[in-house]
Amino acid sequence: MNRKASILGSTGSIGTQSLEVCEKHGIQITALAAHSSTELLEQQARKFHPEYVGIYNESKYTELKERLADTNIKVLCGMEGLCEIAALPQSDIVLNSVVGMVGLLPTLTAIEAGKDIALANKETLVAGGELVTALAKEKGVKIYPVDSEHSAIFQCLQGNKRSQLSKVILTASGGPFFGKSYDDLRSVTKADALKHPNWDMGNKITIDSATLMNKGLEFIEAKWLFDLDPDQIEIVVHRQSVVHSAVEYDDYSVIAQLGVPDMKIPIQYALLYPERVPCPTGRLSLTEYGSLTFEKPDYETFKCLSAAIEAIKRGGAYPCLVNSANEEAVRAFLNDEISFISIGEIVSSVLDEFKPSEIRSYDDVMKADSAARAYVREKIGVCAQ
Ligand code: MG
Repeated sequence: MNRKASILGSTGSIGTQSLEVCEKHGIQITALAAHSSTELLEQQARKFHPEYVGIYNESKYTELKERLADTNIKVLCGMEGLCEIAALPQSDIVLNSVVGMVGLLPTLTAIEAGKDIALANKETLVAGGELVTALAKEKGVKIYPVDSEHSAIFQCLQGNKRSQLSKVILTASGGPFFGKSYDDLRSVTKADALKHPNWDMGNKITIDSATLMNKGLEFIEAKWLFDLDPDQIEIVVHRQSVVHSAVEYDDYSVIAQLGVPDMKIPIQYALLYPERVPCPTGRLSLTEYGSLTFEKPDYETFKCLSAAIEAIKRGGAYPCLVNSANEEAVRAFLNDEISFISIGEIVSSVLDEFKPSEIRSYDDVMKADSAARAYVREKIGVCAQ
């Protein structure tokens, strides 16, 4: 495979798995970037010999530069560094797996530079869906979804007419608190919330899976990735995470993509598209599972999920507002400042607190982002008193 990739967020869960995929299939690494994990980034740089490495946290720049002083790897830092890496002419594809809003500007920069994108950063499409999809269309850039659900939908769309797609069925594992009542959730601790039954992920995404915000964000992403109306997206709880999502066509044929719950399959598909080659995850054995179950989500208990859906139905800045409010609320929960159920309460309250506004530029996204964060911090301050 004569492909060159740059990986943003290389030290995270998706990033490290992506590097395994690149190693296995001979994809050359042009650049690697991470938030602050200098030690792992150094190891990766020594192993994959990129031309550039970037560290988002500027206070780690000197340390990283010293670590790599005996190499000829160029070290960059900050948002500027991430964006420079995103636009490098040497790479064919940019895999963006950074966590949070930080991912949006590098995605826009990569698209502007005509790079195809393997997208694992949810916030890119949640907060800037209109901007990102319009720019990608203008530049003729392809966005390959890395998330298992969107990869599944993307796979189910191959070889069929997009105009005959009637809806998509987005599956959800339901998280560790599926079946619990709102009252049950009052006593949830950080340790409870950080356990996930099927997937091994970073802390932010694990909490988002427990609140079902993750599914809400995926709902919004699906709308933008596949140009859907929110009414065309159905969420189905499927505890086994074997059916990664499905699509329904006008003839009511439903086509699903199945596989073992392992991110290497969608990562590999995004990086090697359209090739299909054996994945180290191994085969799915349906008889080992025996039965697969499908249930409706509980929108009353999981307030983040309903808030995210309502946000994309309203459009404008609302998806960005709920996403940024969620980032702040999750951060506060992980810092033991608020309870688990407060996350959902805070995220839904954004819909009442903010008046409709449009997103026409990156600055509009940033304004909505800081307004939502300021609102949440103030609210948390009030709660704590
Ligand atoms: Mg997912």
